[in-house]
Amino acid sequence: MSISQATVDVCNISEVSTNTRKAAKSNLNKNVIYLPGTDCAIKSQVSLSGHTSYRVGGPAEWYVAPRNIEMLQASIEYAKEQQLPVTILGAGSNLLVSDRGLPGLVIGTRHLRYSSLDPDTGLVTVAAGESIPSLAMEVAENGLEGLEWSVGIPGTVGGAVVMNAGAQNGCIADILVSAQILLPDGTLRTFTVEEMGYAYRTSKLQGSKLVVTQATFQLQPGADPAIVTATTKRNKEYRLNTQPYDKPSCGSVFRNPKPYSAGWLIEQSGLKGFQIGKAQVAPRHANFIINCGGASAGDIFSLIHHIQSHVQEHWSIALEPEVKMIGEFLAI
Ligand SMILES: Cc1cc2nc3c(=O)[nH]c(=O)nc-3n(C[C@H](O)[C@H](O)[C@H](O)COP(=O)(O)OP(=O)(O)OC[C@H]3O[C@@H](n4cnc5c(N)ncnc54)[C@H](O)[C@@H]3O)c2cc1C
Repeated sequence: MSISQATVDVCNISEVSTNTRKAAKSNLNKNVIYLPGTDCAIKSQVSLSGHTSYRVGGPAEWYVAPRNIEMLQASIEYAKEQQLPVTILGAGSNLLVSDRGLPGLVIGTRHLRYSSLDPDTGLVTVAAGESIPSLAMEVAENGLEGLEWSVGIPGTVGGAVVMNAGAQNGCIADILVSAQILLPDGTLRTFTVEEMGYAYRTSKLQGSKLVVTQATFQLQPGADPAIVTATTKRNKEYRLNTQPYDKPSCGSVFRNPKPYSAGWLIEQSGLKGFQIGKAQVAPRHANFIINCGGASAGDIFSLIHHIQSHVQEHWSIALEPEVKMIGEFLAI
């Protein structure tokens, strides 16, 4: 077996002063570093299993959770100065992080929080770290339609914008007006929805060095809050009843290879309930892999490959993962 290196998104920002550089270099010997001029801590060797919905993953070499844009910019500038690769982490609900962890600086966006909504126009602006399910409930309670489908997606706004998250015939591309993006040179730019290159569960942000800092959505104002809230809650109930939300997972593992559903192909291949280590093809929904308790990222990675080769054998269809695998995995 050899070791393969899966994609690690790297963001670099330009110049910092020589003094900052010297201070930063000596800082790398410590377990906790404070971003220059802030109380924002960068911690070493932080386990990522607590930051992913699979509940697996080794340590981040360095981890920081900035609370505002300036701290985010400073984090990226610091990584540039130290020549550290950068990985952006939302809620970690679409990520399989290697058991070996991640080199460089992992930036968690969940503390980037604010939202403003206008019940008259239906325009909603939210920071990247806001939770999609909470947002779906908040807009519903304000009589805004358009996010009812999203309540079962346990990610952040930033992750949803990058992934073009969707469900029940709705997706982010349908409602996004624009997103504020932090560019590699450290400046902020607003991208319109047309500039995002959206297609089924993809955007041109994936694999790029662009960081989503906030998004603006156009929702439909003027609906009865009780009705929108009831629809949103019903959608949540439906998900809870049909998908294995009681066990750690990343949701759907594979994209649907149209006209088929990946779950149907996996089920027809006889793999429902199949297990490698503590990772199992969910008995309730075959496109989910669940962590039955104590699974490693390696177990899940092996199961993904097992499913792919079985479906290829039975149907001559190559299933493409929707989950992002990051860090080093043993090649199979
Ligand atoms: C139980 C369950 C059900 C799910 N159901 C659905 C569903 O119905 N539909 C669906 O589409 N998905 C679903 N998912 C998958 C997942 O929730 C979505 O893909 C979600 O949008 C990921 O958001 P996140 O914040 O967790 O992103 P992460 O998983 O943290 O990151 C995903 C990718 O986006 C990048 N990223 C995250 N934030 C930013 C940012 N601010 N700027 C730049 N890059 C960023 C990361 O680097 C990574 O490449 C489900 C997951 C689970 C666990």
